[in-house]
Amino acid sequence: MGYAERYRCTTCGNHFTVARGPNMFSHVLHCDRCGLGRGVRFAELGDIHERWIAGLGSPWSIATMQHDRHLQETFEGEPLTDEEYEAAVDEWAGSCECGGRWRLKAPAQVRCPTCRGVEAIRTETLLTD
Ligand SMILES: [Zn+2]
Ligand SMILES: [Zn+2]
Repeated sequence: MGYAERYRCTTCGNHFTVARGPNMFSHVLHCDRCGLGRGVRFAELGDIHERWIAGLGSPWSIATMQHDRHLQETFEGEPLTDEEYEAAVDEWAGSCECGGRWRLKAPAQVRCPTCRGVEAIRTETLLTD
């Protein structure tokens, strides 16, 4: 189960949601500039994700075990290492609206998307799929 947190900005009063990982069927990428989170499903990554799974050697999670094992046994392409996968995901994800880049390993920051303020109060935690 992944989860998301609701925040209220203490500067402008805006409410916003920050996605947190981990999640069995998606990654949460973060913008390296504004710190916003964005969920990306493995299915969206397609080939990139399959090549990484193929290179893992063991299933990524219990939920995806059957799929991952099958892929690892039958995959015939070029597997990706962790570093290659990270670079490929960052490339695939492109840019955030703020001009920053979406990154797999960017630190999760809490920053108001309206005023860019970093002072915010957590109001709620929501479970996501
Ligand atoms: Zn704000
Ligand atoms: Zn951004």
